[in-house]
Amino acid sequence: MRKRWLSLLISGVLAASVLGPAAPAMAAPTFKVPFPCGQSWSGQTRTNHSPAYAVDFNRTDDLGDPVVASAPGTVDRVADLGGTSYGKYVRIDHGGGYTTYYAHLNGFNVSVGQSIGYGKVIGWVGSTGGSTGPHLHYEQRLNGADIQVRFNGALALYWGTRTYTSDNACSSSTGSGTVNTSGTPLTVRSGPGTGYTAVGTVADGTRVTIHCQTSGSTVTGTYGTSSIWDRIGSGRFIADAYVYTGYDGYIPGVPRC
Ligand SMILES: [Zn+2]
Repeated sequence: MRKRWLSLLISGVLAASVLGPAAPAMAAPTFKVPFPCGQSWSGQTRTNHSPAYAVDFNRTDDLGDPVVASAPGTVDRVADLGGTSYGKYVRIDHGGGYTTYYAHLNGFNVSVGQSIGYGKVIGWVGSTGGSTGPHLHYEQRLNGADIQVRFNGALALYWGTRTYTSDNACSSSTGSGTVNTSGTPLTVRSGPGTGYTAVGTVADGTRVTIHCQTSGSTVTGTYGTSSIWDRIGSGRFIADAYVYTGYDGYIPGVPRC
């Protein structure tokens, strides 16, 4: 699930009146390498980079190669700074204060306001702005501040150069998500509903692999109200209303149970 602002507002009011102030941080999006599925790119970080945690990506003959969205979101900036700084760049707003930047592009394939998913081609590798050769300058930011880059939750190499292989929008029969209950462990049920036996719990913040999804009893959770349940193991189901998957409904490519 992804929508959360209304429930956040409601839970915030409830928390303030019942439990005292509580401001749960939104789970970070699951960022993917910003290139098509299966491609390997060399990513460099260095202490004199501006901003410091940005990653510069290269591979052989990369001029004009497609650059893709590293997570679902809304394009909120498509700009050309000419021969300085980022040159042609795109910014994507992923919600929760998270944004990503893609700079020195050769051209654009998206426009401001466009809603996009994993793997969407947003532009092409170039050498525009203050760039001395083709590469992709990539940043992740939280509330405007440069943060250390993570792919699938794993920290990039700081500092140095390593190879990153993309699993962005690979067709896959499993999905993934992050449990977000704002504290309490989430109950695991033997079937897709609150009437099924509790067979365990998963802690807030746990990343789960989702083997299939199905419809069950309706639950109101961190991300709103939903009847979708996620199977995370054999005979183990959790309510999708408490799982950040990047999607408001069923995850594309994940089968029905
Ligand atoms: Zn750079």
